[in-house]
Amino acid sequence: MNPPDAHTDLPVAARVRRLEERVIAAGLATDEQLDAILATFLERATPLNGARLVARAWTDPAFRERLLDDGNAAAAELGLVPGDPARRHFTLVVVENTPLTHNVIVCTLCSCYPVALLGPSPSWYKSNAYRARVVREPRAVLAEFGLTLPDETDIAVWDSSSETRYLVLPRRPEGTGEASEDALIGLVTREGLIGTAPV
Ligand code: FE
Repeated sequence: MNPPDAHTDLPVAARVRRLEERVIAAGLATDEQLDAILATFLERATPLNGARLVARAWTDPAFRERLLDDGNAAAAELGLVPGDPARRHFTLVVVENTPLTHNVIVCTLCSCYPVALLGPSPSWYKSNAYRARVVREPRAVLAEFGLTLPDETDIAVWDSSSETRYLVLPRRPEGTGEASEDALIGLVTREGLIGTAPV
């Protein structure tokens, strides 16, 4: 599977560094440019971005419609770009929790995830155990995260790819009718956006 120079014996960081050195040696970018791209990207990559989308959808029904219809376009309305500088564009699909259906995201192949909207992914998201088990026994896995769903709630598992990535739109908590958009943003967690927490 791997080409002979894939260096699968090396830790990932060392393999990344070898790749960087080849990019630099080819004159495609300098070390400083690569550092600057990563720093800018990671500075802006936070689950607050996903939370802003959710809070806006909770308070603006027309925005909610647009978000569910075309995640990329709705994100752009808030000045957010779901893609990251090291990859080409991907399609952002937002999936909405309802009383009947709860959504959870995974990448069974590797660890695809909308980093710009959720921040760097948690280590468990990349683990073999999560990737294999959440597909087979989502109800049990969610219970281990402390999220016990009623038997009548269906669980939809969305398998990400490099082309399509998902974000969960959690249900707005009861009793938040008067809350400001900023206050609502503060209620949304990274786990809620992945689907391993209710909000
Ligand atoms: Fe992946």
